[in-house]
Amino acid sequence: MIEPRPLPARLHWQEAEIVAIASVTPRVKSVRFRVGFADAFRPGQHVDVRLTAPDGYQAQRSYSIASAPDASGTIELMIEGLDAGEVSGFFTEVAEIGDRIELRGPIGGSFVWEPRDGGPLLLVAGGSGVVPLLAMLRHRAAAAPGVPATLVYSARTRGEVIARDELAERAHREAGFSLILTLTREPGGRRIDRAMLALALERLGTPAHAFVCGSNPFVGAVSDLLLDVGLPPGIIRTERFGG
Ligand SMILES: Cc1cc2nc3c(=O)[nH]c(=O)nc-3n(C[C@H](O)[C@H](O)[C@H](O)COP(=O)(O)OP(=O)(O)OC[C@H]3O[C@@H](n4cnc5c(N)ncnc54)[C@H](O)[C@@H]3O)c2cc1C
Repeated sequence: MIEPRPLPARLHWQEAEIVAIASVTPRVKSVRFRVGFADAFRPGQHVDVRLTAPDGYQAQRSYSIASAPDASGTIELMIEGLDAGEVSGFFTEVAEIGDRIELRGPIGGSFVWEPRDGGPLLLVAGGSGVVPLLAMLRHRAAAAPGVPATLVYSARTRGEVIARDELAERAHREAGFSLILTLTREPGGRRIDRAMLALALERLGTPAHAFVCGSNPFVGAVSDLLLDVGLPPGIIRTERFGG
């Protein structure tokens, strides 16, 4: 008889305490959890969270880790409250410091970047899709600042840019990091297009890795554009948040 292999510890549900909550934008909250793997995950990975109602109904969703691996004993998630969003609404409206939430992870093996993977890195984000790319940028700054990186980030309005001050500061201070921000609902704003990606490649040189993250339509459109500007399909990695 073949014995089933035990699940790795990271795939077991565990209770994690919320230790901090802060507003990032009017719709996005930063939620920090105490976990045992805060120094041992790969930027780009996510966790699953599971909520259980008093009647036993359960809802499970995935959230990318925004923080870089470090010795804090905590990870940061950034959760956008969607209209009528079952799980996101709980985190943006109801959750409090001290709540204990079922969580498992870290999860994800292909949408990840580590310093040994090198660069240049082309990162393309739509809305909250910037979250796993922020983890990569934070880790790059701490562990591999020599790796060139460009972030092309599309948000609706200036107020909806996640980590706006941090990204501007990084672009100002960090050699080799460049930010191209486009605001689709501000006057004169436009969606990410071929010319914008061509500009990113001009600044960056030929990327070794391209990471694209956002809603389903965003990822589809940007992937097509990246192929159109000549990137080989093998270097493009995508993460779809749904929608
Ligand atoms: C690997 C992975 C990582 C993710 N990381 C993050 C993250 O870092 N931050 C974050 O905010 N979200 C992230 N998501 C999305 C998240 O898992 C949920 O899908 C999202 O929070 C909506 O769940 P909900 O229960 O609030 O909404 P639901 O109650 O499931 O849906 C409410 C309404 O919103 C629509 N909808 C569902 N998902 C989206 C979406 N992503 N965009 C637009 N409309 C949507 C539904 O069609 C529905 O109409 C990630 C998803 C994946 C797969």
